[in-house]
Amino acid sequence: MAEDRAALTRQVKEASDIVAVVGGYLTLHSAGPVFKALCPFHDDSRPSMNVDPRWQNFRCWACGKKGDVFSFVMEMEKVDFLGAREVLARRANINLEGDAGPDPHRLKLLDAMRWADEQYKECLVDSPLAEQARVYLGERQLAGKTVRDFGLGFAPLSGDWLTTKVRKAGQDWQTLLELGLLSERKEVGGFYERFRDRVMFPIRDMRGQTVGFGGRILPGSPYAARSPKYYNSADTPLFNKSDLLYGIDLARHAGSSEGYLAVMEGYVDVMMAHQHGITNVVATMGTALGARHVHNLRRYVPRVVLVYDADAGGTSGVDRAVDIFISQDVELAIAALPPGLDPCDLLVAQGPEPLKKALKYAVDALDFKLNGLLAREESQGIAGTRRMVDAILAILALAPELPGKAGQLKRELILTRVAHRLGLRLETVWARFGELREKKKNEPARPAAAATTNSQEADAPRAAPAPPLERQLLELVLADPMLVPVAMRSIQPDDLVHPGLKRLLDALYQMMALGEPPELDGLRARIADRALIEWAMDACERGRQITERAHYLNRVLDGFREQRDGQGKDELKSKLSAAAGDHAAALEILRKIQNKPATNDS
Ligand SMILES: [Zn+2]
Repeated sequence: MAEDRAALTRQVKEASDIVAVVGGYLTLHSAGPVFKALCPFHDDSRPSMNVDPRWQNFRCWACGKKGDVFSFVMEMEKVDFLGAREVLARRANINLEGDAGPDPHRLKLLDAMRWADEQYKECLVDSPLAEQARVYLGERQLAGKTVRDFGLGFAPLSGDWLTTKVRKAGQDWQTLLELGLLSERKEVGGFYERFRDRVMFPIRDMRGQTVGFGGRILPGSPYAARSPKYYNSADTPLFNKSDLLYGIDLARHAGSSEGYLAVMEGYVDVMMAHQHGITNVVATMGTALGARHVHNLRRYVPRVVLVYDADAGGTSGVDRAVDIFISQDVELAIAALPPGLDPCDLLVAQGPEPLKKALKYAVDALDFKLNGLLAREESQGIAGTRRMVDAILAILALAPELPGKAGQLKRELILTRVAHRLGLRLETVWARFGELREKKKNEPARPAAAATTNSQEADAPRAAPAPPLERQLLELVLADPMLVPVAMRSIQPDDLVHPGLKRLLDALYQMMALGEPPELDGLRARIADRALIEWAMDACERGRQITERAHYLNRVLDGFREQRDGQGKDELKSKLSAAAGDHAAALEILRKIQNKPATNDS
């Protein structure tokens, strides 16, 4: 399986000619053996970026951005390596489904999730313990098919239902603890169940694998008064509230054909929409729509429609949507529902037509904001207009900028529209925008709404330069994966001093152990630290310049051995001075230093 994964990465890379891929984003001009383009990663006025079909790489001579086709897509789409691989696989019509992800710990969590999912589901369908839950779902007007499609389950009230099953099935307690399905009893020992008397909504990733649960307490439950209505399982490597979308597995195909996905707030809203034939619908996990959500949605659709519940959201939801619209490469529109109704109520009361209409007439986020401001300020004369301009431009000036040409176009578009809608001269709007942006520069940066900064990147150790031997070792094994097993026989990751290089070597060995080819692209799939990966890519390039790599590697390994022996001798010497009073011990140590066999006369 591991080998399949590496083969898949290679297949994607081979199917993604860099000229064709970059040409899909930028206009390329042929210049001899290479192509030139305006660099999208800095404010480029001359074509500074070279795209080289022979080496399948790109390089900007002005800002220094460079790399292969994966690096380009990572920068362009603001995705990680796996995200880039997915983008390119889709482009080349290569199916990545069934790629289970590289991490054995992750697989273990997924297995336990699948098991728990089955237990809850079975309980809802068959168990007398779930009678009230079945009644509740019927009252909510959810059809049996909908409940099955979304895989709903039930966690009964009795405190030992799941723990008994765990014991019988021999499931791993620790894993279920980590998933947040069980908790440890502090004083008396043992475990208790986190979900009791709750309808379980499995939260699935885009492949339909259950990665977490949302549990809704039964309205008649003895716990109903003193615990939250909805409750989620723990954040784990599988489950992260800020990037998962409920229903994405069932909605993404409909989204692609409709050209947009609609985002709601509740699990039941999504289910009810599906039940009424509106299937391009997802929900966030009780959090506001964030940059990571948009980023995930953007993989499937160019346009996102936020279903906006006027009562619940207030204007902060709209401002946030405008913020996202500005800072992300996405079309974002807002569909307003009739006051007082959430999507589920609306569907149950009036069928699918009103919701369909609301989605169809969704208003672009910026216009939605402008409409609201105009309604409020229109009669307020010049002062009102000024407040409106500032309200909009402040959001624009504060939002993290979309980089490159796309960002520039979006700014122009927004300012033109603001000027037009408010009946102002374009120059006036630009001037005010300039003032606000200047002011922003002088203020301390606020945490960006768009999570474009990679925390790993920020944390990347700007470590001291690696010792030459360690650097040479990595250059060789990165350029030539066939040499990894050779290195493995005499060098351990712990022999390396440099933390980054140690991590790279360790990952290469792990890949070997899993039967995965220890290649750079595989490293990129498992290490998210961009600075480190960039270093590895450069090292690989340097390694490829070296001829007779196997021979060179032997010299490097000799170097490590000498170093180790030298250290060993140093240690022995210090023991020697410690053993100065003990003649026999001192002699033995001396012999070791001189590599002489022990004599029998002592
Ligand atoms: Zn550049």
